Amino acid sequence: MAKVLCVLYDDPVAGYPKSYARDGIPKIERYPGGQTTPTPRQIDFKPGELLGSVSGGLGLYKFLEGLGHTFVVTSDKEGTTSVFERELPDAEIVISQPFWPAYLTAERIAKAKKLKLAITAGIGSDHVDLQAAIEHGVTVAEVTYSNSISVSEHVVMMILSLVRNYIPSYKWVIDGGWNIADCVSSSYDLEAMEVGTVGSGRIGLGVLRRLKPFDVKLHYTDRHRLPEDVEKDLKLTYHPNAESMVRVCDVVTINAPLHPETEHLFNDALIDKMKRGAYLVNTARGKICDRDAVVRALKSGKLAGYAGDVWFPQPAPRDHPWRTMPHHGMTPHTSGTSLSAQARYAAGTREILECWFEGRPIREEYLIVDSGKLAGTGAHSYSVGKTA
Ligand code: NDP
Repeated sequence: MAKVLCVLYDDPVAGYPKSYARDGIPKIERYPGGQTTPTPRQIDFKPGELLGSVSGGLGLYKFLEGLGHTFVVTSDKEGTTSVFERELPDAEIVISQPFWPAYLTAERIAKAKKLKLAITAGIGSDHVDLQAAIEHGVTVAEVTYSNSISVSEHVVMMILSLVRNYIPSYKWVIDGGWNIADCVSSSYDLEAMEVGTVGSGRIGLGVLRRLKPFDVKLHYTDRHRLPEDVEKDLKLTYHPNAESMVRVCDVVTINAPLHPETEHLFNDALIDKMKRGAYLVNTARGKICDRDAVVRALKSGKLAGYAGDVWFPQPAPRDHPWRTMPHHGMTPHTSGTSLSAQARYAAGTREILECWFEGRPIREEYLIVDSGKLAGTGAHSYSVGKTA
């Protein structure tokens, strides 16, 4: 029997919910492009419940304990005395979410002698040292597409929030004011602005498609060009690199994975090439931006706003400068863990586990590392090497 170690974020401070704002969530069977949503044999939760926190246990308690496995669920993941560190040496499977990542460093993988499978309940396995996973024969899988559209929606929300100055205006209301001039002194229309994405995969293309009706001018840069019919339909301008794109954009959104090529891509030098008063939205990974360069650019007015939900490290320390920098619209890492997304990635995690225990192949699109090499989606999207 296996020991499954699962690291999830804490329950709400008010306790695990007894009821929800809505009675359920719409059922989606296919993602854009045709890939099917997860197809586990069974689920033991009601879609729309909170599954990503400790008491939710990704809806896996009954399934795993019913099979006789040991299922350890914790939010305690930092430091040598944490539950995660103590339970890791004899765990066969580790499950973690990017929102509350259990960093599987090379040192930890070396200590986890029995570790065979690391599942990301969500998308983005950069919290796992993939080179170490390759060297130790650990399979890495994630639930591709499960929350891509959730993030695309969040990006659109953040772009509009920044450009229209929503958050400070809301704050005036809470504070009892009616300060229209204060609210609108930095409020604009998005219409006719130049908006560009770094990365036009599942999330980036989802953002472009959602922005089309806003009558903006759309740009993108990516390692591969989109099909001609998509470029035509969305009236896209392609740029061979981020530098060429950011020079012309009023709004830039980052939707590329973190890998050695994208780490600190948005540093002083690249931000300097952006238009004065541009907005930057990053829901991809915190380390794609140079933390202090972003703060400097907001303070100097080079950037008019920065928003996103990804930080480094996570959870962000209380004194992280992005909490207090001016003109920001940051949230904790929430965009990909709406209740709707949780239902999909919990079902996807269950599907991966069912395959693993029954000796059936895991879907190619879920694989990142397998049999000592990058595999499936990982072979397409990731490169190995260290991000500091
Ligand atoms: P996809 O793999 O579908 O798309 C990423 C795109 O970025 C690909 O087209 C890729 O090109 C491209 N890309 C890679 N490197 C570069 C580069 N240097 N410059 C420009 N483009 C590049 O991934 P998703 O859209 O599903 O997700 C993107 C990222 O978003 C994830 O890796 C993850 O880090 C983050 N994410 C965040 C979530 C959140 O909750 N905030 C939730 C889910 C994901 P190519 O096809 O050549 O590889």
